[in-house]
Amino acid sequence: NRWLVDQESDFFRKQQRIVLKNCGNINPENIEEAIANHGYQGLARAVNELTPEEVIEIVKDAKLRGRGGAGFSTGMKWGFAASKNGRDKYLICNADEGDPGAFMDRSILEGDPHRLIEGMTIAGYAMGANKGYIYCRAEYPLAIKRLKKAIKDAKEMGVLGENILDSGFDFEIDIRLGAGAFVCGEETSLIASIEGKRGEPRPKPPYPTDSGLYGKATVINNVETFANVPEIIRNGSSWFKNYGTADSPGTKVFALAGKIKNNGLVEVPMGTSLGEIVFDIGGGLENDADFKAAQTGGPSGGCIPIEHLNVPVDYDSLSELGTIMGSGGLIIMDDQTCMVDLAKYFVDFCVDESCGQCTPCRIGTTRMLEILEKISLGEANRKDFELLMDMGEKIKDSSFCGLGQTAPNPVLSTIRYFEDEYFNHIDNKHCDSSVCAALFTS
Ligand code: SF4
Repeated sequence: NRWLVDQESDFFRKQQRIVLKNCGNINPENIEEAIANHGYQGLARAVNELTPEEVIEIVKDAKLRGRGGAGFSTGMKWGFAASKNGRDKYLICNADEGDPGAFMDRSILEGDPHRLIEGMTIAGYAMGANKGYIYCRAEYPLAIKRLKKAIKDAKEMGVLGENILDSGFDFEIDIRLGAGAFVCGEETSLIASIEGKRGEPRPKPPYPTDSGLYGKATVINNVETFANVPEIIRNGSSWFKNYGTADSPGTKVFALAGKIKNNGLVEVPMGTSLGEIVFDIGGGLENDADFKAAQTGGPSGGCIPIEHLNVPVDYDSLSELGTIMGSGGLIIMDDQTCMVDLAKYFVDFCVDESCGQCTPCRIGTTRMLEILEKISLGEANRKDFELLMDMGEKIKDSSFCGLGQTAPNPVLSTIRYFEDEYFNHIDNKHCDSSVCAALFTS
């Protein structure tokens, strides 16, 4: 409720809101409120004052990197598609947000849908596409309702559809619904799903910018990536580079969840330390418990223990710790959290979500889950542990797509930082957390 938001609280004061600027502050179903808050000014500048090449150069110079997790240069991706001849190209917004506990995209879709429409329309102009799709998970009915209204209103206002702002540029957006398969967040599965096929990944290359939807050049970016674009075009690349780090400019939205006092969405400049997010914005842990670790990247990521609490949160620093930025899930754990239990939770998720196409992922993750369950119950031995590690490495190396290649990460990362906890379960049939203690005595 926008009237209940206390913008002066530490939770908001210590954030830098670019993408979420309007969320909670405007009526998302009223295009005039969006326009009164700089909505469609970036689009007007793009189509009336800049060539498509100049738009791409600004986005490249801003060093905007894909906020879906991969961190690839957005401007370069647009440039690949723009270099293909003809206008038979597609733009797709990946709004199939599936990480457990993550709801960054949902908030933008529900709170400021015009920002997404504007970002996509600018991208369509830059790459030379006249058609875009928003692939949104069907579990977001309010987001879908608001997107539909926003698309209709934008067309009536002349900022979407034919001859946008009298520029001669046409761009249409349609919505496609995903049925809740995590693997459809992978771009080739997502394309297959839009085409009406089974949502399974296919080999790359060819990359979607060469041969994507219906075999045509296709750019796929996620919601947050597109949501950054209007402000970059409106204010320029130098303005954007005032925020964040040299290699990762701008901000990142995180869904702060777990054992934290202030749950919710936070938007911070890239490079903000994890400790600042947890203690200054998050207000510390529930019941003033001790911080144990944070999980970034959801089921594809890893944990960050207390000794790295001051790590700057950006693509490269997180990668050095063996985890990933991911799309923005940030789960905080206290000293009562069992790290074996955490690993088990994420592997269980991947077992459920594996598309079953390749053996390492389909069978391997199931075997890993079995071993983790044995460890949890105090029934595993050291050989099981060695097998668990070995399988994790092999599944990473031999799985077909990103889901399988990253599924072992939560296990390998908890072993990296909390190996003693695994050995405590195996050798002493003991865990200090209340969760596992209950299991051992049941
Ligand atoms: Fe499917 Fe998993 Fe193989 Fe990806 S790694 S293709 S999700 S079975």
